[in-house]
Amino acid sequence: MNKPINDMGWDELVPGAALYAFEGEITYDISQIQPEDRLYSQTSSQSMSVGDWRVIKPVWNSETCIDCQNCWIFCPDTSIIARNKEMKGVDYDHCKGCGLCVSVCPTNPKSLLMFNEYETTEDALGKWPLKKKKGE
Ligand code: SF4
Ligand code: SF4
Repeated sequence: MNKPINDMGWDELVPGAALYAFEGEITYDISQIQPEDRLYSQTSSQSMSVGDWRVIKPVWNSETCIDCQNCWIFCPDTSIIARNKEMKGVDYDHCKGCGLCVSVCPTNPKSLLMFNEYETTEDALGKWPLKKKKGE
């Protein structure tokens, strides 16, 4: 019996196989539908969790965030979740832990900081630095 395609290694795929992003024919305006409501195929990069090997992760602090959207614009993996220009969190199924979002966050203290993967959000928020004063 053939293996399900999700259980196959890259070297078991048939040469020239096409992997479609969406299930079935697209008869709607995809840009009008939020990612979680789209019918992605099992083999799309959206359905597959590709953040497993991350060792550090960004944690978001909503208390200091000013919804500037810098992190959303610069994330190379589209892993910042924003709705109606409001920051909502990080998509940990796809975030690779590159830290770019932290670099571009303009607040003082930053509203995104990198922590070890095993750190809970609650613990990370408890360690958040205070606002830096001029000259510090
Ligand atoms: S760490 Fe990198 S991949 Fe993850 S949300 Fe930030 S910019 Fe995106
Ligand atoms: S860059 Fe920082 S302040 Fe701007 S939306 Fe992202 S977390 Fe919030």
